[in-house]
Parts: sequence; structure tokens; C-alpha cells
Amino acid sequence: MAVVEAKSSVEVRGNLDQVVHEYAFPDIHIGAGEDESPYVPFSENVAIRHLAFDVRNNTYANILWIKKAGSLGKHRHRGKVFACTLEGSWRYLEYDWVARPGSYVQEAPGAIHTLVSDHPQGMKTFFLLNGAIEFFDENDNLMQTLDVFWFIDHYVTYCREHGIPVNKKLWV
Ligand code: FE
Repeated sequence: MAVVEAKSSVEVRGNLDQVVHEYAFPDIHIGAGEDESPYVPFSENVAIRHLAFDVRNNTYANILWIKKAGSLGKHRHRGKVFACTLEGSWRYLEYDWVARPGSYVQEAPGAIHTLVSDHPQGMKTFFLLNGAIEFFDENDNLMQTLDVFWFIDHYVTYCREHGIPVNKKLWV
């Protein structure tokens, strides 16, 4: 019977480094400045700073900015959502919690809720979203479906209209 000798940790590490070097994707840093990614108007009171587009996974990351107290509207998620509030506060009309700076929110596929900010300065929140978001009007009619391609179009169209170079680092 052949004796399989255990590889030393140095050998294992060396092999891993080589595979990582060949196949891994680079780390990414999107700077805080709007020259790296601007706040793109979504509505009169809302703007979105796009941070990442992962087309293969229909996943996208951004900072949602509600400029003063107001509503984002009723929406249903078809994927999962992770959020961490940076400034101000916000809540969903359907729940009893309020998201504040440092608090963490996780939303599940199928969730339907209405986002509002009661804070005079609105809010800024980091969102990592997967799948589609469906927006509804006050009579529960489906108005719009947003997915990774909608978010890309939102960003690219704004860049084109304002002569801003598209930041290829946003595609991960
Ligand atoms: Fe939501």
C-alpha cells in the first residue's frame, strides 16, 4: 500500500498562492469621492451611488441617499438584501424597528414593504441586493422592475449625459 506523505504547510501555501495568482479576481476599492462614482438622481428626493455590478449573480451594491424626510415607495424583493445605515434613519411602514447608523438589516426574498425616512436629514444607507425589486403604486399596481441591468443603465446613462467616464471597477 502506498504511503501518502502529508504535505508541509509551506507546500500547501505555495500551491494555494499559485492558484490564487492564476485564478482569483483582484480586490477592489471604490474611493469615497464622486469622481469614482457620483450620486445619480433616482427621484426628486432620492439618489443612488452605485458601487458594484455583478451581472452573473444579478447582485449589486450601492448607497441609497434620501435627502430629506420622505418615502421610497412600496416594493417587493425577489432576492435577498443586506443593509447597513450610514447616516440618518429609516424604517418600513410594515415593521416596528427603525434603522439607524450602525444597525444591520437583512431582507428575505418575497418581502414586500414601504421604505420611509422620518429624519429631517433623510438617510444614507449601504445596500447589497440580489435579484429583482418590484415597485408598486398606492393601488398595488406593479410600476417597475429593477434588477442589475436597470442599475447599470441608471449609472451608465447618467455618465453619458454628463460626460463622466464610466468606472469599469464597478463591474465585479
Ligand atoms: Fe426593501
